[in-house]
Amino acid sequence: MVQPYKHEPFTDFSVKENKEEYLLGLKTVASYLGTDYDLVIGGERVSTDDKIVSVNPSNKEEVIGRVSKADRELAEKAMKIADETFKKWSKVNPEVRADVLFKAAAIIRRRKHEFSALLTKEAGKPWNEADADTAEAIDFLEFYARQMLKLKDGIPVQSRANEYNRYDYISLGVGIIISPWNFPFAIMAGTTVAAIVTGNTVLLKPASTTPVVAAKFVEVMEEAGLPKGVLNFVPGSGAEVGDYLVDHPRTRFISFTGSRDVGIRIYERASKVNEGQIWLKRVIAEMGGKDTIVVDKEADLELAAQSIVKSAFGFSGQKCSACSRAVIVEDVYDQVLNRAVELTKQLTVGNPEDITNFMGPVIDQNAYNKIMEYVEIGKGEGKLMAGGKGDCSKGFFIQPTIFADLDPNARLMQEEIFGPVVAFAKAKDFDHALEIANNTEYGLTGAVITTNRENQEKAREDFHVGNLYFNRGCTGAIVGYQPFGGFNMSGTDSKAGGPDYLTLHMQGKTTSELY
Ligand code: GLU
Repeated sequence: MVQPYKHEPFTDFSVKENKEEYLLGLKTVASYLGTDYDLVIGGERVSTDDKIVSVNPSNKEEVIGRVSKADRELAEKAMKIADETFKKWSKVNPEVRADVLFKAAAIIRRRKHEFSALLTKEAGKPWNEADADTAEAIDFLEFYARQMLKLKDGIPVQSRANEYNRYDYISLGVGIIISPWNFPFAIMAGTTVAAIVTGNTVLLKPASTTPVVAAKFVEVMEEAGLPKGVLNFVPGSGAEVGDYLVDHPRTRFISFTGSRDVGIRIYERASKVNEGQIWLKRVIAEMGGKDTIVVDKEADLELAAQSIVKSAFGFSGQKCSACSRAVIVEDVYDQVLNRAVELTKQLTVGNPEDITNFMGPVIDQNAYNKIMEYVEIGKGEGKLMAGGKGDCSKGFFIQPTIFADLDPNARLMQEEIFGPVVAFAKAKDFDHALEIANNTEYGLTGAVITTNRENQEKAREDFHVGNLYFNRGCTGAIVGYQPFGGFNMSGTDSKAGGPDYLTLHMQGKTTSELY
């Protein structure tokens, strides 16, 4: 019998054995650094001359792996195979499909610290952040497998005398999975398996900065018994392969996680009906955020400062859920700001392979440059209170940075930075704070630190975000516990790890029989 879902616990690295296992994971990863990885099309390995070179963001000299790069011709080949395979895979018993996910989860669990160590190397994730990413990948596999078992016999509808009605979900077709580098394991695996367990076949195009962990995941799915042609691995450039696949008339849906601009581009392109296309494509998009922690005057101020710092600087602020705005009622503004500055100055930045470093690098030179530009903008718009410096000589390190006294309409308060920069703004009262919090085109996460129940209920209704947290930080949603996804420019309102996520990859079919 399938046991009820429980999320994968995080590892306690103060336990000696756990620490040793992680270090062993780092050794295992070191043993395959610099390896070549092929495309996988219909189960066949295809090597190309042109390669994506994945480097360690803490140490630009260290090559994690070299991954073959699909071009249009190979993408077309993969599409044909996925299209063919769909006819068979969509007919495979959902229980069998779910079993592949259960087995993959078991394989990953056995190699948990190796995967996390790979995330430390390839994405620059500190131990605890890497561990959470791996745990979430396992959670997605376990959760979506169970969700499929719940949906396999459809949803009950009414029948009448001599009439038998059913409402079933059937698969859609070929899906294009375009996954991000910031949760290079969890979101890559989660979006891929949600599509697969529902009977679709996929073309996976992972982020070009983190393709190795995706290649390793494809191997796990093969080991778990996934038939050839269901999961095709086609890393490549957005302009060449991404657009081609998004535009393709046989593409049935696109599942994208990434920036607002790329999301909009995909949404627009997908809306065009191309020659030979007989459906309207579906787009599931998880985009950016400009997430706010609101602090009321009646609040645990230590908790407020801790929550802001942790949500702003965990994984160097490179989460769409990260706190990039702290909006604080004026009565307690100075207190919270000063304490947050104090805490921030204690944070250590450096190579995340060293467990004592709280923060690692940002992902690449482009990210580094963009974040440092925002630091300069911040100096003009607000008061620099902590950090503000970077060093990209060896890796892409930026200090955790706090700016104070921002106008709610300042660029720092409006634009997604995706780095370790948080802007503080003062509000006259709680209502004003909520007004500022909602003054963004995004609507992903938010948190309210308050002991005032009335204000909390006001926020529950009026703070327009997909994930709202009370008296805690605004990152770290857990699959099956806090379904994750946002409103407005944060995406298509889908909720990863939620009860209705799988149905986005299926279509409802009504059958009615008289007898
Ligand atoms: N689900 C993650 C969280 O709750 C964020 C995902 C993302 O940044 O894309 O922190």
